[in-house]
Amino acid sequence: MYDLIILGGGPAGTAAAVYAARKQLKTALITKSFGGQSINSLQIENWIGEIKISGLELAKKFEKHIESCAGKTLEIKKSEEVKDLKKSADGFEVKTQKHSYSTKTILIASGANRRKLPAKNADKFENLGLTYCATCDGPLFKNQVVAVVGGGNSAVETAMQLLSYTQKVYLFHREKVLKADPISVEAIKHDPKLEIIHRSEVTEVLGDKMVSGIKIKNLDDNSEKEIAVNGIFVEIGSVPAIDFAGNLIKLAAENTIEIDPWTQQTSVPGIWAAGDVTNAKYHQNNIAAGDAIKAIEDIFNYVKKKQ
Ligand SMILES: Cc1cc2nc3c(=O)[nH]c(=O)nc-3n(C[C@H](O)[C@H](O)[C@H](O)COP(=O)(O)OP(=O)(O)OC[C@H]3O[C@@H](n4cnc5c(N)ncnc54)[C@H](O)[C@@H]3O)c2cc1C
Repeated sequence: MYDLIILGGGPAGTAAAVYAARKQLKTALITKSFGGQSINSLQIENWIGEIKISGLELAKKFEKHIESCAGKTLEIKKSEEVKDLKKSADGFEVKTQKHSYSTKTILIASGANRRKLPAKNADKFENLGLTYCATCDGPLFKNQVVAVVGGGNSAVETAMQLLSYTQKVYLFHREKVLKADPISVEAIKHDPKLEIIHRSEVTEVLGDKMVSGIKIKNLDDNSEKEIAVNGIFVEIGSVPAIDFAGNLIKLAAENTIEIDPWTQQTSVPGIWAAGDVTNAKYHQNNIAAGDAIKAIEDIFNYVKKKQ
């Protein structure tokens, strides 16, 4: 039986594995892959200690760091996907497509997947002008014309950020009124560089090798028009990776895992969660790593108390 099973090999899972090894908890890290969501980012400029690093390079460093800690108390279960979690008499059973493991505690660090833009050619232009992360890719569009798709807080905050250095920002959303907090909407709506197009749905991404425009449908009269843009920022939500958790854990809004932000504990004693899978307010690589470390501190105390 393991003291701890960590689910996920993104920044949260990686940081947790390094700390668990240093604390000599008998641990298995189970992950489909290393690196997490920013693996596709061409340039990450805010991972502390690296001025600039590609997502792919960061993923390699995560894997290398985990491997350097493995052997004594840490086991790596690579290319395994967790399918089910169940309570057992003395802890939990974690089932993957290959094996079943017993553990006293679990840290869920399975992250999230961005909700993809359901428009023609959106997948073809991903990372070729269409992006799901303004913090990462926004500065590449300095002085250019960009579109933001979505009407919630992330879309409005993305527009706010882009307005400070782009030439023009279109904000396309489906409703008559933006869903974002009024205070955020108020902060941007009078900016002359912003054009909000209500009741619009993106139907197609246009371009040759890179994005050059966007086709939108007016949801009131079904008319379509094309608008030239250099970049498209999609902010229509994300989908937490929690299919395996079934009804075991209490979920918060938008199917994120509810945690106690003081300790990262979930509603189930013995299960912690960290990173984008949780209902933490902000989601970034450094935050995911820090929250996972907080969880390991708490898990260590829990395991030692039970011994
Ligand atoms: C394109 C893009 C670029 C970004 N760029 C930046 C940036 O520049 N700076 C920044 O700070 N943030 C950036 N972010 C946000 C950042 O990537 C996330 O906040 C961060 O990845 C969250 O880390 P995490 O460990 O919680 O989850 P994730 O990174 O989502 O990692 C989850 C891990 O769990 C594994 N996993 C999932 N389900 C299972 C399962 N069932 N079984 C086994 N393993 C599983 C996955 O394979 C993955 O290894 C970016 C996000 C995107 C989408």
